[in-house]
Amino acid sequence: MIPYARQEITADDIESVVRVLQSEWLTQGPAVPLFEHALSNYTGAKHAVAVNSATSALHLACLALDVRPGDLVWTSPNTFVASANCALYCNAAIDFVDIDGLTYNMSVDKLKEKLEEAHSKNRLPKVIVAVHFAGQPCDMAAIYDLKKKYGFKIVEDASHAVGAKYLGTRIGACAFSDVTIFSFHPVKIFTTAEGGAVLTNCDEIASKVKLLRSHGIARDVNLMTHKSPEPWYYEQLELGYNYRMSDLHAALGLSQINRLDSFLAYRQNIADEYSKLLKDLPIATPWISPDTSSSWHLYVIRLKLQKIQKSRLQVFQNLRDSGVGVQIHYIPIHLHPYFLKMGFKPGDFPVCEQYYAEALSLPIYTKLTRDNQLAVIRALEAALSK
Ligand SMILES: *Cc1c(COP(=O)(O)O)cnc(C)c1O
Repeated sequence: MIPYARQEITADDIESVVRVLQSEWLTQGPAVPLFEHALSNYTGAKHAVAVNSATSALHLACLALDVRPGDLVWTSPNTFVASANCALYCNAAIDFVDIDGLTYNMSVDKLKEKLEEAHSKNRLPKVIVAVHFAGQPCDMAAIYDLKKKYGFKIVEDASHAVGAKYLGTRIGACAFSDVTIFSFHPVKIFTTAEGGAVLTNCDEIASKVKLLRSHGIARDVNLMTHKSPEPWYYEQLELGYNYRMSDLHAALGLSQINRLDSFLAYRQNIADEYSKLLKDLPIATPWISPDTSSSWHLYVIRLKLQKIQKSRLQVFQNLRDSGVGVQIHYIPIHLHPYFLKMGFKPGDFPVCEQYYAEALSLPIYTKLTRDNQLAVIRALEAALSK
């Protein structure tokens, strides 16, 4: 089976992890700050804080932005559930903004309308989680303008968009946001096995995130209430978590980030080939805004079901049967049973639901060979015509 995504691990990656195993430090040691430094350098963010997953990063981002019970967080329904769950971990309420039919990101027009309505009802969101779906950045300048008008904070969920650019600036630089989070899960752009990061230009947010990732415990005397501490002394200042990244994971990340530019070039090339070779099929290939440069985490096509004598399920099954591990990204979040119980219903976000009915993710990853890609294309042609 050709999977839809997969990591690339080299001998160098293995060696850098083994070196940590042979060292003093297994948990957060010297590799973590080195990895954080590499992330800051690459993105231009003032601070990068490595954690054990993007899910943890989203939770800490919400806490650092003071999301509390009774607050409201908005995100896109077309994303992994973690983009919404971060609000629920803080006992805040979640709501969604329907997507744009071209980029499949949160629609700025819908966001404007929803903000106007929320303003009139005095129920504005505290935080908006902007998800850069498939690796294509959202229209951040437009969302930032709305932030200035309505006063919410912005978290960029850049789990898909490590290495992507918006208006020439690297995602992670937080040019139009308070916080950006990354995922280093093996299906994403580069991997630390499990892992994530919080990036920000704000000193206060960075120190809050660092405190909360390790139990809310301070060892820095400047943060403590007791100003002449004994040598063993530390203080718990807040209720934190153990969301630390280990040195093993950071060492893998340090080795992988060296190849990030070549990963991005490889993915761009695969995407270009798909778009060129699939253009006569009864599908829509991805549309990329001239303002953005995608990191191509996903290559999503939409089936023109009126022109195909088959259902999406049949096309999906035909491809799986011929060894192509297609996937669907995503089941709209509001249609999961947990969210239906909260009162969301089918029809709430019609553009997203229509998109979901037609979407299909084709394999894209750095170890996908030219032959693999041609096999995927042949299988898709067959599946659409049979
Ligand atoms: C993968 C993903 C996450 C969660 O990442 P983990 O590192 O597995 O916690 C969050 N948001 C989006 C959009 C994702 O794709």
